[in-house]
Amino acid sequence: MDDMDTIINRIKEQDPELFLQIEKIIPFHGYLSSGAMIGLQMLTMAKRLLDVKEGERIYVTAETSNCVPDPFQILEGATIGNKGMKIKDYGKMAVTVNKRGAPGEMIMPAVRIYLDAEKTEAYPRLHAWFMNLEKVRHEEILPILLEAGEKIYSYTFTAIEVPVKKSKQVRLCEKCGESFIQYEGEALCEACRHEQ
Ligand SMILES: [Zn+2]
Repeated sequence: MDDMDTIINRIKEQDPELFLQIEKIIPFHGYLSSGAMIGLQMLTMAKRLLDVKEGERIYVTAETSNCVPDPFQILEGATIGNKGMKIKDYGKMAVTVNKRGAPGEMIMPAVRIYLDAEKTEAYPRLHAWFMNLEKVRHEEILPILLEAGEKIYSYTFTAIEVPVKKSKQVRLCEKCGESFIQYEGEALCEACRHEQ
């Protein structure tokens, strides 16, 4: 098994464009994890499938909080703070990506991409890692992901309704006294409501 530096150097030689992306992901995420590479592959697929133009914003719902969201955050600026990234932590290696619809359209084109366990079966070590049957090192998984490319993913096109902006008011919580965003006349902030 090659070490991480060897793997990254090989990417640099063989795929300079991928290397430039990885160079940004590593300091952001901390290292090149298998999940971050999966996120990057999903991102590349989504941009192609949705025909995302240079500089066009994308919006992402990640179905895991592990690794997968980070390439979208650092490479596309789809962050949690700017509402480009939502996480529904279902513990699934899946993302739904959408871009804005045409002006006036209430529907936005979207695609859901997932790592498909039926397809990873063709790559036993990757499959063992994915299904957590064995501990497998990132150094072993990364070359498999690079070799398999998009063959291990499935996707479906979907559409997302343009969200209607809820009107909001800022109120002081009747229990803790701190200000919070009130949507539907709640007297207590969400933290205090959960503590009841
Ligand atoms: Zn409160």
